[in-house]
Amino acid sequence: MEDNFDLVVIGGGPGGYVCAIRAAQLGLKTACVESRGALGGTCLNVGCIPSKSLLNLSENYHKAKKDFSNQGIEISDIKLNINKMMSNKNKSIQVLTKGVEFLFKKNKVTYFKGKGVLFSKNDLVIYEGNNKRTNIKAKNIVIATGSEVSSLPGIEINEKNIVSSTGALSFDKVPNKLAVIGGGYIGLEMGSVWSRLGSEVTVIEYLDYITPGMDREISNEFQKILTKQGIKFKMGSKVNSVNSKEDSVTINYTDIKNSKESVIKVDKVLVSVGRKPYTEGLNLSKVGVKKDNKGRIEVDSKLQTTVKNIYAIGDVIKGPMLAHKAEEEGIAVAEILAGQAGHVNYNVIPGVVYTAPEVATVGKTEEQLKSENISYKVGKFPFLANSRAKVNNETDGFVKILADSKTDRVLGVHIIGPHCGDMIAEMALAMEFGASAEDIARTCHAHPTHTEAIKEAALAVDKRPIHF
Ligand SMILES: Cc1cc2nc3c(=O)[nH]c(=O)nc-3n(C[C@H](O)[C@H](O)[C@H](O)COP(=O)(O)OP(=O)(O)OC[C@H]3O[C@@H](n4cnc5c(N)ncnc54)[C@H](O)[C@@H]3O)c2cc1C
Repeated sequence: MEDNFDLVVIGGGPGGYVCAIRAAQLGLKTACVESRGALGGTCLNVGCIPSKSLLNLSENYHKAKKDFSNQGIEISDIKLNINKMMSNKNKSIQVLTKGVEFLFKKNKVTYFKGKGVLFSKNDLVIYEGNNKRTNIKAKNIVIATGSEVSSLPGIEINEKNIVSSTGALSFDKVPNKLAVIGGGYIGLEMGSVWSRLGSEVTVIEYLDYITPGMDREISNEFQKILTKQGIKFKMGSKVNSVNSKEDSVTINYTDIKNSKESVIKVDKVLVSVGRKPYTEGLNLSKVGVKKDNKGRIEVDSKLQTTVKNIYAIGDVIKGPMLAHKAEEEGIAVAEILAGQAGHVNYNVIPGVVYTAPEVATVGKTEEQLKSENISYKVGKFPFLANSRAKVNNETDGFVKILADSKTDRVLGVHIIGPHCGDMIAEMALAMEFGASAEDIARTCHAHPTHTEAIKEAALAVDKRPIHF
């Protein structure tokens, strides 16, 4: 095999593998190095995909157990088989990771299984498990090494009873009591899974609101809905210590407002306080690739690092830690390297929380518009007044559209409600095309669909909704 490549991508997650495929499509001789033994990165192996599998399966179980009989569907003896549920999830992961391997073959991307280490700006060494060392040369390198779990000082994740999201994706039985430290989207998704399967779930959050960065009106509604579903919240609470005993874990925390200390005893704790960029063992300083004060690789607007022929994408650089953001950056770099005008529009990166109901957002929040002194109009429409949501008994939530008060251009869309994770694509497209609220309001939306709530919210920007 030849060891000279136009491009070597380090990391086979959604950023890295998509970059490698696009570069190969554009005629670059491309290799991808991945150390975990399977392609797809955090997303396919321990992130987006396994969590969405469990969210879907646990929602089906919960609906069958709690809702079906009220809707005239009577099934007796509904039982949970957690082993089967987990093997279903594991099978989906396997099929998808193998699928990426197939795409590499199809596009003639060379796949190295091992840890990639930079030796110089054009030389890499790949270390495989069995002391095998392979040297390769690359005209250009893309670092796509992703992120790893963060914890809090003094809390040691053992992946048994004090777990990260990875451990919470593989419990072998339903914990009676589960505490989730951190009210971000990963903690809330995993908390929802185990709550639906029967755990008593308590979320302990330092701030006095959940899902930081989300439009506050939406996050407040989200918390109300999750509370109604049975999840308990200890807000404005600082965790002091987490102590693991043989059959339980005790968490000591302080209410920040009144300094009152409390203790909660649970079976398992999920520590979900964020993720940090992963660059261990890459040898970055030796080749001159700089990181910022948060440990992220510094890049310019073309995703180029401080070394000219080395680029970085995805969770290892600034910006939202989301698979589709990593993918867009991967495509942009491949196109830049092929002489095209690769570009990522960071103003239009949707974000989705896959709970039930889902939460989906794109563009600016009301808080951001206020802090940037942009004057805006708001149009809102509740799912309670949407006929499809009504017949499906899924009436929680609403659509909120923020449009520029002078030009009517859509600046942000925030939705909490059924299927909005799919609906947000229409809004992202509208924003990419610079649509006004009037454009959306004048677009014919099929009846009866949840998307009519979007049209109505757009009409509401101009104070003329029909059904509310
Ligand atoms: C529980 C959970 C749920 C999530 N859900 C969603 C979701 O629903 N939607 C969404 O958009 N995002 C979600 N995310 C985030 C998403 O997984 C990440 O944003 C995404 O995977 C980042 O892609 P990446 O390519 O930058 O890095 P990663 O996916 O982390 O891939 C990096 C890869 O590089 C490899 N690697 C690292 N160093 C080396 C080296 N030196 N040599 C070779 N290989 C190396 C690693 O093994 C890894 O496989 C979730 C994350 C978690 C943890």
